Amino acid sequence: MTRPEEASCIENQFLAATMSQMEMAAQKLNLNPGIFKIMKSPKRILTVSIPIRRDDGAIEVFKGFRVQHDLTRGPAKGGIRYHPEVDMEEVIALAMLMTWKCAVVDIPYGGAKGGVICNPKELSMGELERLTRRFTSEISIIIGPEKDIPAPDVYTNPQVMAWIMDTFSMHHGFSVPAVVTGKPIEIGGSQGRNEATGRGVVFTIEEAASRLKMDLFRSTAVIQGYGNVGSVVAADLSQLGCKIVAVSDTGGGIYNENGLDLDGVNSHKQLYGSVAGFPGAKPVSNQELLIIDCDILVPAALENQITGENAPLIKARLVAEGANGPTTLKADGILFERGITVIPDILANAGGVVVSYFEWVQGLQNFYWTGDEVNAQLRRRIVESFREVYRIKEQQGVSIRMAAYMLAMGRVSRAMELRGLYP
Ligand code: NAD
Repeated sequence: MTRPEEASCIENQFLAATMSQMEMAAQKLNLNPGIFKIMKSPKRILTVSIPIRRDDGAIEVFKGFRVQHDLTRGPAKGGIRYHPEVDMEEVIALAMLMTWKCAVVDIPYGGAKGGVICNPKELSMGELERLTRRFTSEISIIIGPEKDIPAPDVYTNPQVMAWIMDTFSMHHGFSVPAVVTGKPIEIGGSQGRNEATGRGVVFTIEEAASRLKMDLFRSTAVIQGYGNVGSVVAADLSQLGCKIVAVSDTGGGIYNENGLDLDGVNSHKQLYGSVAGFPGAKPVSNQELLIIDCDILVPAALENQITGENAPLIKARLVAEGANGPTTLKADGILFERGITVIPDILANAGGVVVSYFEWVQGLQNFYWTGDEVNAQLRRRIVESFREVYRIKEQQGVSIRMAAYMLAMGRVSRAMELRGLYP
């Protein structure tokens, strides 16, 4: 269905792979070609210039994007990423994944994503705040509790969400907590939001492990990316008795076949800003880490990490995609042929958006839930979605990823048919 000239226009490998996955699911679903045309085109793309004053008085101009892919099932939802390598096609791919993710777990949102090309590690707190406030002001024409609700992603955190909420509220003259999720608890954040994505990843691992007859208590795990998602996956898997043998971040990786002391790793990271150099573990590169002998591999950093080159060498039986788009299209095919189970991003890491949805609902109602209520609802939503996806996988004889795309695209397609085409 994708015309050759369309596919060849795409430079970003991640976007090309996402479109190919959609294409395959559309064929399996026998989707109306007109509906599929709409799905391939993001509804709205806003590119903005963000001028800020640096601490030394110089003016610098950054570039940012907000992409709304689809709004058929509800307001747009998706994180904001600060990274030097952000580009518009990457943000489009991430926005598409958000549409499918929200549909897989059946929450009433469409998909969006934002990004600013910058290196937050080179900005002071003051510069980061001015950048965030100006970016918020620039995209404020398309965001809002009923329109589009941002959240944290790579190198953005609850403090950044607090600045977004405050800037938007200042424009309106009253507090609008439901404009972002992932806020600090003190200003309307939800219990359990920080841990939600990692926790959801572990719920899906438990479901997959029981089907693979894998005893988590006797299993080993390797985690690439020790940030918000990866560190929570490590802690929760370890609580289930699983041995975490290797973790990494941009500074490098650490490996101990007898299991890492996570409290020690956390203190080391807090002190030195990286897990690298942790005593009592061998250093490994991020590439070596992916092919370590283990039962469970969790890529929780960035896209395109498991590739055609390293996929044949991966030893894990189960791969759970904490990150968005960590597996290239070629690698996905190789892992499938090798019988390695992959829990795809749009299911594995959906816990974050599920609790973001709970946070939005709590903000709109001014009625806040306990941590136990949040976690119980999160588990129910993730486990039910996993089971629904798995049923499709078994019925259709496809990968879990393809089953998740089929469930999601089927739901969005039905919503589009019901709403009809305006005018
Ligand atoms: P984060 O900024 O908290 O952590 C990212 C981690 O990855 C950091 O430890 C960083 O050092 C490391 N990293 C970056 N590049 C790396 C590389 N090349 N090799 C190894 N490590 C590297 O970000 P996060 O929120 O944990 O997000 C991680 C991934 O999870 C992203 O793909 C994001 O889109 C996805 N995700 C996040 C959420 C969420 O709620 N935060 C929700 C869904 C999906």
